[in-house]
Amino acid sequence: MNNVKLLPWQHSLCQQLNQAITQEHLGQALLFDNEEADDSVVDWLIQRLMCQRQSSTPCGQCHACSMLAAGTHSDFFQLQPAGKNIGIDDVRKMGDWAVQKPRHGYVKVASIRNAELLTPAASNGLLKLLEEPRENTFFILVKPIQTVLLPTIMSRVTRFIIRPPTHHQALAWLSTQLSGYDSSLLSHALHWVSPGPRYILRFITEQHGDTSLKNFEQAIRQLRDNQTQPLIELITQNPNMIEWLTQIIIDSLKTELGFPTAYFTFDYLSESALIDVYQQIIEFQQHLNDTPGLNIALQLYPLLDRLTLSAEIRNAH
Ligand SMILES: [Zn+2]
Repeated sequence: MNNVKLLPWQHSLCQQLNQAITQEHLGQALLFDNEEADDSVVDWLIQRLMCQRQSSTPCGQCHACSMLAAGTHSDFFQLQPAGKNIGIDDVRKMGDWAVQKPRHGYVKVASIRNAELLTPAASNGLLKLLEEPRENTFFILVKPIQTVLLPTIMSRVTRFIIRPPTHHQALAWLSTQLSGYDSSLLSHALHWVSPGPRYILRFITEQHGDTSLKNFEQAIRQLRDNQTQPLIELITQNPNMIEWLTQIIIDSLKTELGFPTAYFTFDYLSESALIDVYQQIIEFQQHLNDTPGLNIALQLYPLLDRLTLSAEIRNAH
């Protein structure tokens, strides 16, 4: 766990947590319902609880912080799914860890990411641990907000929600990180690219520059001129762009249904054409996930052809 850099919209939740720690009323079983891909708040909390300086921000320098960064802090336990689920054996290991005395300080923290993957047996095992709280031992559960846990677990935890930034907050932050970039393009990217601003920043700075965003936008516009090849090439190189395209189809449908958006839409396509192509793109995504080595270009051509102006004219006759 590297020293956590919080994003501006994460500060208020951290302040709330910090206050609870200072006033000694932070629960020992915590659940973070995550509404976005970024859970740095949880990393921050783990560090905040374990840092030896116990100040409002983890120092990043003490022995505890260094061991956390190196992944060698034995009073910290990370439970992560090895396969599709978190099973009872995994929870038993955590139980064995939980009964040991702390080796370094006095605080022990276990973090359970993807808590929604706990099997019923594992959930019951966890419940036993939560029912017998040990002094200064914290259990921190994290799950996507749309998933559920057993009601018995829910009744034992203090729940927090990690909210995503507003579009405005995300754009403001991204613009400070990427000065000189076209802010309308960044705004579109934030709308299209679901994992959020940190992902876009990494995407732009580490891999592709903003050319692939620009190229994507241009290729989308070229569909009106019946050119599908540029978009096929881009998606073949970066299959994630299928999700961006799906978002544009959703925007187009919303606009068609009377809920206009400020983003690019296929305004020349009819509602029935959009519904049709939306269903196809969902099937294509499924197919893509299920079939490694799929010839993307071959599959995409008929799909993207339906997004061209000439297809709409053909359909209208
Ligand atoms: Zn520290």
